[in-house]
Amino acid sequence: MIFQTGGYVNKNSEYLIERENKQYEVIIGLEVHAQVTSESKLFSQSSTKFGAEPNTQVSLVDAAFPGMLPVINEFCIEQAIKTGIGLKAKINKKSVFDRKNYFYADLPQGYQISQYKYPIVGEGKVILDMPNGQKEIGIERLHLEQDAGKSIHDIDPNNTLVDLNRSGVALMEIVSKPDLRSPDEVNVYIKKLRSIMRYLGTCDGNMQEGSLRADVNVSVRLKGETEFGTRCEIKNVNSIKFMQMAIISEANRQIDLLEEGKDIDQETRLFDTKRNETRSMRSKEDAHDYRYFPDPDLLPLEISQELIEKIKSDIPELPDEKKKRFIDKFNLSPYEATILVSDIETSNFFEEVIKNSDVKLATNWITGELFAVLNEKNLEISQSPVSAKNLSKLINLIKDGTISGKIAKTVFEQMIDGDQDPLIIVKEKGLKQESDPKAIEELINKVIENNSDKVAEYKSGKDKLFGFFVGQAMKESKGKGNPQLINKILKEKLNG
Ligand code: ADP
Ligand code: MG
Repeated sequence: MIFQTGGYVNKNSEYLIERENKQYEVIIGLEVHAQVTSESKLFSQSSTKFGAEPNTQVSLVDAAFPGMLPVINEFCIEQAIKTGIGLKAKINKKSVFDRKNYFYADLPQGYQISQYKYPIVGEGKVILDMPNGQKEIGIERLHLEQDAGKSIHDIDPNNTLVDLNRSGVALMEIVSKPDLRSPDEVNVYIKKLRSIMRYLGTCDGNMQEGSLRADVNVSVRLKGETEFGTRCEIKNVNSIKFMQMAIISEANRQIDLLEEGKDIDQETRLFDTKRNETRSMRSKEDAHDYRYFPDPDLLPLEISQELIEKIKSDIPELPDEKKKRFIDKFNLSPYEATILVSDIETSNFFEEVIKNSDVKLATNWITGELFAVLNEKNLEISQSPVSAKNLSKLINLIKDGTISGKIAKTVFEQMIDGDQDPLIIVKEKGLKQESDPKAIEELINKVIENNSDKVAEYKSGKDKLFGFFVGQAMKESKGKGNPQLINKILKEKLNG
């Protein structure tokens, strides 16, 4: 976390900034732009595939040739409804596409088709798991709109180039209520939204590829005040870290102004990541500046109850419900459950492992050893070097006493190299645990014989030496002795 001038997070996860005995709080509302997972664009059949050569995925509609008419992509509508249901939101049976008029080189139509007064999805909510408990963030609305093209300034020194591949790609704008109170909550909120949409398959949430960006609205007020202060909107921030930096820097800027007795202008600002400061872009335009009006080429959207019901019946189990089930059914702690459901790949992996193996061990191995390896190698769980199948085999070898937990770590290290079958490793390396009481007794006898002086010391009251004997017996067994058995037999021999 980047802290600047007296900012700190209190136990309610609120970010407070102190100035001369005064306490300011930060109010944040996000407008998240999430690219709809869809092979084709919102009003044309061009591909949305990321990374194509510039201007190779542009139809006449996307390039706004005269006379071309938009044709709504039904799949995108269904994706928006699905997302609305995932946000526990009201689905509006009637919504309208409007033209939002403005001029820019990357917007060939001269307007963006969006939804203004009548969005497809109304109020909903997202639940955040914060350290002090759950917090509900209100969703104001979700509407569909087209993305613009991209202006490229850094290829030709004398000209700006335009790539229209993104032009017309479907976006969902998800507008939160001004309910967020800290950079930490913003972090958890974005991750939760992303997780819900990935479970649903409605947005891949890939921030590097620009599938998820946000306009960040920030205002400040003295703690305890009930009215909101004037907000500024920071446009198009494309990473959580930058959102957090922008919020802190913008809040401090606003407080500085207030402390100087100045007013805050409602503005649209840009975040300069190198200088860690926001810069004025333009004074905030009002909605009437855009001359919104219903797009005459598109009929109002009417959604039947039947379609809503059909989509509802296809909704998979979402993170909140999955978490509850993991806690109730598998006795996981809320903390463990939160980690395991946080993304769909992790929860799928976990469920695959526990199909045939112990839940408690699976939880510990996934959140412990496996996550450590993924972290170290900077891999997603979908790229895990150890498959769910082989991890569950390893867990079963521990559970049935074939190997100890300690040996299992050695086996695991080798499994990473090419997802090897743990049973084969155990056999080839002769790592099977020694659980035959006779064999253990024999090697303990040896240890006692070889250390008669220590035995005498132990018997005269030096209890601490017990650990030494365990260590010696383990060594004698080349690490393969069953630890419980070694303990038991040693106790009988030394204390008997
Ligand atoms: P616009 O489309 O003009 O940006 P909206 O009414 O859609 O305006 O609101 C945009 C965002 O601003 C919402 O996410 C909302 O929560 C947030 N917001 C509104 N008032 C404030 C405020 N005083 N401080 C911080 N955020 C705010
Ligand atoms: Mg806005």
